[in-house]
Amino acid sequence: MEEIKKAISQNNATTSDKRLFLLLVFFTAFLILSILGFSYFVPSVGLSALPDLVRWAFLGIIVAAGCFFVVIFGFLIAVIVLGRDVSIPYAKKLRSIAIKYFLPIFIVVGRLLGIPKERIQHAFVTINNELVLSACRNGRVPERILLLMPHCLQYSECSVKVTYRAENCKRCGKCPIKRLLELAEEYGATLSVATGGTIARRVVKETKPDLIIAVACERDLTSGIQDTVPLPVYGIFNRRPHGPCFNTQVDLEAVDAVLKEIRSIKSKSHQLESKISPLIYQSKKLDNFAEGLPSSNPLLTENMDKENQESSEAK
Ligand code: SF4
Repeated sequence: MEEIKKAISQNNATTSDKRLFLLLVFFTAFLILSILGFSYFVPSVGLSALPDLVRWAFLGIIVAAGCFFVVIFGFLIAVIVLGRDVSIPYAKKLRSIAIKYFLPIFIVVGRLLGIPKERIQHAFVTINNELVLSACRNGRVPERILLLMPHCLQYSECSVKVTYRAENCKRCGKCPIKRLLELAEEYGATLSVATGGTIARRVVKETKPDLIIAVACERDLTSGIQDTVPLPVYGIFNRRPHGPCFNTQVDLEAVDAVLKEIRSIKSKSHQLESKISPLIYQSKKLDNFAEGLPSSNPLLTENMDKENQESSEAK
């Protein structure tokens, strides 16, 4: 158990990742809100010649934009500090907007502060990983898992074509594809090797996963997460001992650890379901009794009996 936690924590957000992102969020918020302030007060001298209605409309737009940014930045700060999604209306939408449109702004702001783009992308992926696992623990348990691998993991001189059909691999063990196939079989996941973003998108469309565990470099993981939002992507960084895109490696223990964690979340959730189901059955029966409608709906009764039988079998 300790090993799983260790392997996962290597891919999860560290305090420095969170600090870096909080700094970026605060600085960007300060910049944007200052620009909004100036965009009203500076031209308001010229606007004074215009009718009141125009001035109020202009002020309204500025205030609405300011409120929008305050909500987005407040949401981001809460999510980063808590390490999980906060339950407010439109939380999913806000997260999608933040990932798609605000990350590029953070990268620009990071450049102003002298923070390398790759460092920001790394922090973003690790924070995202924490949110993905936390969502799984809080009820979004994935059933279909896709292991999405980059083509550069394959041994450069291997003659087998594993793109699209990873099962073609002869399992010689010269590259990580062999072990990844074994992991996919062990955990009931789908393994796919993609040569680029277009094929990766097509694979995602075809397999319709609930969770993607993707291996790639910082840049590709970031763009993959942005492309597939709101679909959850857990990112694992590849290793590049021979330089980028050539005979790359992956920490197989990290992949194993995440799959193990998801399996344990799944089994806990199934255990909980089997405990709750008879209680729901009893409460439904009591409701019917109280309403004077004992077993009035044969379909409902049949479903409840089935549920109860399944739960006793599971026990
Ligand atoms: S493990 Fe599979 S993909 Fe890798 S070199 Fe051997 S046959 Fe090729």
